[in-house]
Amino acid sequence: MPQYKAPIEDFLFLYNEFLDLDEAKDVPGMEMLTPDIIEAILNEAGKLSEEVLQPLNVIGDTQGCKHHGDDGRVTLPEGFKAAFDTYNDNGWSSLVADPSYGGQGIPGVLGLAVSEMINAANASFAAYPGLTLGAYEVILHHGSEDQKQTYLPKMISGQWSGTMNLTEPHCGTDLGLIRTKAEPHGNGRYAISGTKIWISAGEHDLSENIIHLVLARTPDAPAGTRGISLFIVPKYSVNEDGSLGPNNGVRCQSIEKKMGIKSSATCEMQYTNAIGVLIGEENKGLSYMFTMMNAARLVTGIQGTAMGDAAYQAAKTFAHERLQGRALTGPRYPDKPADPIIVHPDVRRMLLTARAFTEGARALALMTGLQLDIELRHPDADKRQQASYWVAMLTPVIKAYFTDMGFEVANLAMQVHGGAGYVTDTGVEQFVRDVRITQIYEGTNGVQALDLVGRKLTANQGENLKAFFTPVHTFIATHAGNEALGAFITPLKEVADSLQGITAEVFAKMSKDPMEAGAASTDYLRLFALTAMAFVWAKMAVIAQQKIEAGHASGFYQAKLDTARFFMTRMLPDHLALAAKIRAGASPIMNTQDEYL
Ligand SMILES: Cc1cc2nc3c(=O)[nH]c(=O)nc-3n(C[C@H](O)[C@H](O)[C@H](O)COP(=O)(O)OP(=O)(O)OC[C@H]3O[C@@H](n4cnc5c(N)ncnc54)[C@H](O)[C@@H]3O)c2cc1C
Repeated sequence: MPQYKAPIEDFLFLYNEFLDLDEAKDVPGMEMLTPDIIEAILNEAGKLSEEVLQPLNVIGDTQGCKHHGDDGRVTLPEGFKAAFDTYNDNGWSSLVADPSYGGQGIPGVLGLAVSEMINAANASFAAYPGLTLGAYEVILHHGSEDQKQTYLPKMISGQWSGTMNLTEPHCGTDLGLIRTKAEPHGNGRYAISGTKIWISAGEHDLSENIIHLVLARTPDAPAGTRGISLFIVPKYSVNEDGSLGPNNGVRCQSIEKKMGIKSSATCEMQYTNAIGVLIGEENKGLSYMFTMMNAARLVTGIQGTAMGDAAYQAAKTFAHERLQGRALTGPRYPDKPADPIIVHPDVRRMLLTARAFTEGARALALMTGLQLDIELRHPDADKRQQASYWVAMLTPVIKAYFTDMGFEVANLAMQVHGGAGYVTDTGVEQFVRDVRITQIYEGTNGVQALDLVGRKLTANQGENLKAFFTPVHTFIATHAGNEALGAFITPLKEVADSLQGITAEVFAKMSKDPMEAGAASTDYLRLFALTAMAFVWAKMAVIAQQKIEAGHASGFYQAKLDTARFFMTRMLPDHLALAAKIRAGASPIMNTQDEYL
């Protein structure tokens, strides 16, 4: 079975050498991020992931969740409740939460590393605290003080958990179709009735209460997305003194059988006159939910990286051990009956693709996480605004590219294993099954691409784009004259120029025909992602080069340079094909009549 090792050395490199934490020094809590505290938290999270959560990953996959038809209860596989208690008791549920409600106030940028490690070790488990954190964020940013006092301390301690309820049988992407009703019930309360499907962590036996955030319509709400409100609907009603009352008309009707993440309960939830309270104002529910969805999309991208990394680690170990054939240039290990498959160029190609993706994605996620901390908590409004442009641009890119690549990399890891990857014994096929959902939930990747092209490119009078291109161009200008760095700066400049040119072309075409935006979107997002990855790889290469020149001869920096070279020469050139596809425009896609598709 795979033995996941938390990538502590890489995280330390990123926090201590790659990120400019000083840029966010006025964000509350940043003063806690000293190198020793960062290292201590990373080490502890690594231990939790390796020793507590990883051993449950296969157990969770084989046992799955159990739905009890008599009362709608859901029980989780053995060991999950104990692991959940350990998680909460050791302060992980409160790590990044606001100290006013019992949190530790550690900035989110460090929480992202913890999130990556627990998702790599056990993505199904990670769903329960992950959704609670998302629900916590919505109540924190949009709830009344009374709601915050009632719900947040218990969600932060892990005593209660949270969910998000958007999807209904007839509506997924198009939330304007939501039918769940919210009838006024006096005293600011509403009676919620309707069916929500595929609700992650909708029912389970981990926490005392489950706080559902439910999108619903009040009786006179306008049609479409402008008529959706957001409600807090607890599984058990909460008395004035905070104690629990009876079941609140909330029942899990069934759980789904599905391809992966088998111990993350995917529930059909029935609300029958369940009493809920409104968050904020009526009809603004979707915009409140988006608060949670931005952070959630970043974390979904990180799930892709996490499972890609776990699969890559398994493949690397296998490639060093499996003996097959000889190196093309003659035996490399003549004392063995055959060479390990790590000598074969095609196996190395697969492993390096995985490595270059994982390390680049990790760097880009943390860079964006730092901007998210600035956007949400910096005292200076201008700085918050500026950071929001980067976050707006990169969120759909990270969600879609990281999850597409997470799946691709898990699949490559299976390929490295040969037949041993397809049968269950090595555990690598579980990563392929588990990671696949990340391309679908939190908004499908096609919808992320539309968000990027249709909304983010045009929003804020070009400020979003400027926030991306300005640091890229400044970086290129700073290092342009350095010949030793030419292998990184030249391809970065080439792809950045190409992206800029293509952006102008897409703008011009889509202003005449909106189908052009839709047709370009997925390839454009990939081109954007490759440019962003080239930027972070070039930045990491510069640091590694400087360290090597300064006499730090560790293999770590040399491996960074080698991986950066692989990315620039073997992955980045895909941008040429993407540009050609985007330029081909909408007609090859739209001309075929519907009945021939
Ligand atoms: C395991 C699992 C867990 C989930 N957890 C939750 C949860 O906790 N809470 C929750 O509310 N939901 C949850 N979901 C639902 C999930 O968010 C939706 O499945 C997702 O948003 C897509 O909606 P859909 O499945 O209805 O697909 P559809 O919206 O029917 O889309 C089908 C296809 O059409 C494409 N498409 C749709 N509209 C457009 C458009 N306008 N332009 C271009 N392409 C389009 C999509 O990209 C997709 O390829 C979960 C789903 C699963 C499977």
